[in-house]
Amino acid sequence: MALLLTSFFGAPAEWRKLFAAQMPDLDVRIWPEVGNEADIEAAAVTTLPRGKLKSFPNLKMIVSLLAGADVLLSDPELPDVPIVRAGNPDGDEMMSEAALLHVLRHHRHLPAYWAAQQRCEWISLPRLRARERKIGVMGLGVIGLPVAKALAAHGFAVAGWVRSPRAHDGIETFAGREQLPAFLARSEIVVNLLPLTPETRGILNTGAFAQMPKGGAVVNLGRGAHVVEADLMAALDADHLAGATLDVFPVEPLPKESPLWCHPKITITPHVARRIEASELVPNICDAIRAFQAGRPLNHLIDRKRGY
Ligand code: NDP
Repeated sequence: MALLLTSFFGAPAEWRKLFAAQMPDLDVRIWPEVGNEADIEAAAVTTLPRGKLKSFPNLKMIVSLLAGADVLLSDPELPDVPIVRAGNPDGDEMMSEAALLHVLRHHRHLPAYWAAQQRCEWISLPRLRARERKIGVMGLGVIGLPVAKALAAHGFAVAGWVRSPRAHDGIETFAGREQLPAFLARSEIVVNLLPLTPETRGILNTGAFAQMPKGGAVVNLGRGAHVVEADLMAALDADHLAGATLDVFPVEPLPKESPLWCHPKITITPHVARRIEASELVPNICDAIRAFQAGRPLNHLIDRKRGY
């Protein structure tokens, strides 16, 4: 079997070494060195040019190297084969760390103290204990659930918003659009970890910000297009929201002319919440290929209809 790989993370030689150790017989082709397109039966990719996957006539499986399948699914000519997620099914500790870092910054008013320091101004803002601070995590998936648990373990009062109702120990759960207003109304710091789908695009907009408590903050670790940037800046400028941290943007790198860069209440991190390791992905890619070859059911599938 030939596997096409986009070696976006890590050097090609490292990927080859890892695959050789796991599946010595696997013929690994590293993009753009595809060879004969008819040989390719599996593609483990971040993204490829639109329509490219369709050009492999014997493609049987796609492995998404990214947690979000939004870019893959946006290809109108995406072949109708299973799409498997290669990431760790138990989440990513760096994502949990990033969420904790940014939530703590807003919880302890660090952006406001930094701004006051620029003015040589001695200010004092309310000091809440973690248990007095209500955090809302949008999306309790592979990455979102461990994030919510890490925040709860720190002592925060954590709630999550999901699509299908269910219970999680220590995390109040809200489900569906009808419970979104109540979820937002109790969430002083909202951490977004939704996948980007037609239902979630632009979900953090004027209406959502208005439902959040005054003085709230938003941490976007999902995808840039979840946030309507003009609405966010308006909510910050009106002093309804106190701050926002954005790690992801509709266009990356964020264009130099973007007003987000210089907004005094916005912290920008350039999509650096975590580091993806080839060594973590290769065993999962090989497991998926082995399951496929043995005719066993594939795990961690993307549901195209839901969009995640
Ligand atoms: P999953 O697909 O595992 O989980 C998605 C979660 O979102 C589920 O809990 C799901 O609810 C919920 N959800 C989806 N659609 C809706 C909706 N319409 N209404 C309410 N809830 C909804 O995703 P992950 O946790 O693995 O990752 C989430 C996203 O985080 C990724 O898609 C990616 O965009 C982003 N990400 C960003 C990174 C970065 O570097 N900044 C790194 C990794 C991921 P339910 O459980 O009910 O289905």
